[in-house]
Amino acid sequence: MVDRRKLVAGNWKMNGGRASLDEVRAMLAEASNLDPVELAICPPAILAHAVGEVLAGGPIALGGQDCHDMPSGAFTGNVSAEMWGESGAQYCIVGHSERRAGHGETDQIVAAKAVAVIRAGMKPIICLGESLEQRDAGETIKVVVNQLAGSLPAAAKERPVVVAYEPIWAIGTGRTPSTEQVAEVHAALRAGLRSLLGATQADAVRLLYGGSVKPDNAAELMHVPDVDGALVGGASLKAVDFLAIARACR
Ligand code: PEP
Repeated sequence: MVDRRKLVAGNWKMNGGRASLDEVRAMLAEASNLDPVELAICPPAILAHAVGEVLAGGPIALGGQDCHDMPSGAFTGNVSAEMWGESGAQYCIVGHSERRAGHGETDQIVAAKAVAVIRAGMKPIICLGESLEQRDAGETIKVVVNQLAGSLPAAAKERPVVVAYEPIWAIGTGRTPSTEQVAEVHAALRAGLRSLLGATQADAVRLLYGGSVKPDNAAELMHVPDVDGALVGGASLKAVDFLAIARACR
């Protein structure tokens, strides 16, 4: 049995401002009591250095939201993995459905971004998940296993990665899959990881669940077999909610 510490990562998306630093301080005030649960906050790029300074040396990690696959260059408006790394980030989210759908990101692009995150010395949080149409058509397992195979870089055989299962229809909707549905997908992803990476490396990968995780449903979702934590959107903006979710992991 592999001991995977649970990880609760907050994806602020395009939310937050300098006033959010007070929420970060409130999170920090309790974070050391949450051991062995690990926490990470992924703010918008413009806040990375400010949030990174507040978090520096403390128990909450900084994470990035998306990155370009090149380290630098003429890519107006983009942020490289190395830039996230310089602000102190240890994780970077890639392949979020809002990037896949809104920015045309394919599995191949997601894998290239994951390579960049690893190159910059961080751990990618590789997101995948089915649409409602795909679930209704009974295609969920096929879709997520294919996304996993296409989005996971070869470097995952040696370097740590995190995978987040986020059904698109559960993101920001208040709807969640049943615990049986989550268990089925996570078991399929674990099996997929084993065939792609070998058992030892696969069993070290943390599989997060994301999609409308809130303080009132976190305990149930976080204790599903093979769920190693959460990727949290809306409920990660307020310390009180984020901390309640982290507590529910214990
Ligand atoms: C997310 O965007 O990664 C997410 C899970 O959002 P929410 O928790 O708001 O559904």
